Amino acid sequence: MRISIDGNVCIGAGQCALTSPDVFTQDDDGFGTVVPGREDGAGTLVREAARACPVQAITLHDPADEART
Ligand code: SF4
Repeated sequence: MRISIDGNVCIGAGQCALTSPDVFTQDDDGFGTVVPGREDGAGTLVREAARACPVQAITLHDPADEART
């Protein structure tokens, strides 16, 4: 799995970092970023964090899903 955050959409609500702090964090301006080295999505509550984002800025790219489309 690969994680991307659309910086043009993120409003810095911080829900991702609260929900899954081992994968998501916030930059100096409060916007969501992926913890370095966790871009592969290995961690807890990643899907829940994506769902918690109030503006759906987080996209999870699951190779298994992409293979089916
Ligand atoms: S939850 Fe969404 S809006 Fe909030 S910091 Fe994370 S990516 Fe940005």
